[in-house]
Amino acid sequence: MENLSHILFQAGENREDYFMSVAPPIMQSSNFCFNTVDQMRDGLAREYDAPFYTRGYNPTVAILREKLALLEECDDSLVCSSGSAAVAIALTGFLKAGDHVICVQKPYSWTYKMLNELLSRFGVETSFIDGTNISNFNEALRENTRVVFLESPNSMTFEMQDLRAVAEFCAKHNLISIIDNSYSSPLFQKPALMGIDIIVHSSTKFINGHSDVVCGVICGSKIHIRQLFSHEWMTLGSIISPHDAWLMIRGLRTLELRVGRSASTAEFIYKGIKNHPAVAAIYYPFAENNPQIELARRQMSRCAGMFSIVLKGKSFKPAEVFSNALKNFLMAASWGGYESLAFPVCAFSKMPWFSDSVLPPNMVRMYFGLEDPELLLADVNQALDEALKYVD
Ligand SMILES: *Cc1c(COP(=O)(O)O)cnc(C)c1O
Repeated sequence: MENLSHILFQAGENREDYFMSVAPPIMQSSNFCFNTVDQMRDGLAREYDAPFYTRGYNPTVAILREKLALLEECDDSLVCSSGSAAVAIALTGFLKAGDHVICVQKPYSWTYKMLNELLSRFGVETSFIDGTNISNFNEALRENTRVVFLESPNSMTFEMQDLRAVAEFCAKHNLISIIDNSYSSPLFQKPALMGIDIIVHSSTKFINGHSDVVCGVICGSKIHIRQLFSHEWMTLGSIISPHDAWLMIRGLRTLELRVGRSASTAEFIYKGIKNHPAVAAIYYPFAENNPQIELARRQMSRCAGMFSIVLKGKSFKPAEVFSNALKNFLMAASWGGYESLAFPVCAFSKMPWFSDSVLPPNMVRMYFGLEDPELLLADVNQALDEALKYVD
């Protein structure tokens, strides 16, 4: 990889182009103009990599695209208005009516809906498989399979897929592999180096990192990204604003510091609570009793700052008491910002599908932000002590 400091602080930033300003300008213009017909002709031919119209190319967004591609060790990237848009564009870009997709079980909920409810209406079928065993990919393979969609690990229960083995399987059968790499951030897992074709992120999470922008990223080879650019991406028009791109560039300045701190805090808290009597299990890729720990250590350089705690007890009461007792965690969905968050599965208990959910009702997902790790540990411990009183 290019030196990480170079990517975060220099790549894509041609300061001669904008008065040598240290921070890049927010090029808040929808449109770009030309002096002659001939120049306009050239502009039209280069919409992919030069200013013509901001739905296609914007100079502030271009700085961000270059940094993200380098971070994922890919040729190029596209940024989208959300992580879900990135997933939708990547999937539709490689599928047509009559095709079949193999997707891992328990992907992000809107990825599941995209495949199961939206693409199914357009004649695309999906098999959702347990991706922890490579033989399940072979079993699900059909003549019309085109795409394999991975999320390793997923962001609730953290099951993983062997990325090298899946990439080999896809190469053998001429399939496109797509991974949602949001959990690991571009720093802790490099799918492109293991042979995965397309990498998507919800950059709302770690990449932006400040809980103030919703955004998605697609990374891949020049051929794939160009193809997505001129069809699905330009047609759907799901772009981010120059201002949001600028916020993301600013967020990236501290990516290494933020993601590293969050990871260290999660490790510290895991060690501090794993033997607490109210804890039934902790779903964390680097947990010592994770049956997939060897794989985790092989394909992830570190484990990011989020895990799920399953509380003991027959009901979800202890999980509810635990969540209400936390003082230094905000109770919310999402993750990847500066602030620590708790997401109790029992918050879904009024949903009609709750009793059939694949998630344990007494599970709470914990995201560790940038606060003092000792403060967070003391808080989790006191909330677990409180929950213990309700374990039945
Ligand atoms: C949040 C999330 C998404 C969706 O991203 P948005 O930016 O909210 O659209 C997709 N995948 C994972 C793993 C996520 O956590």
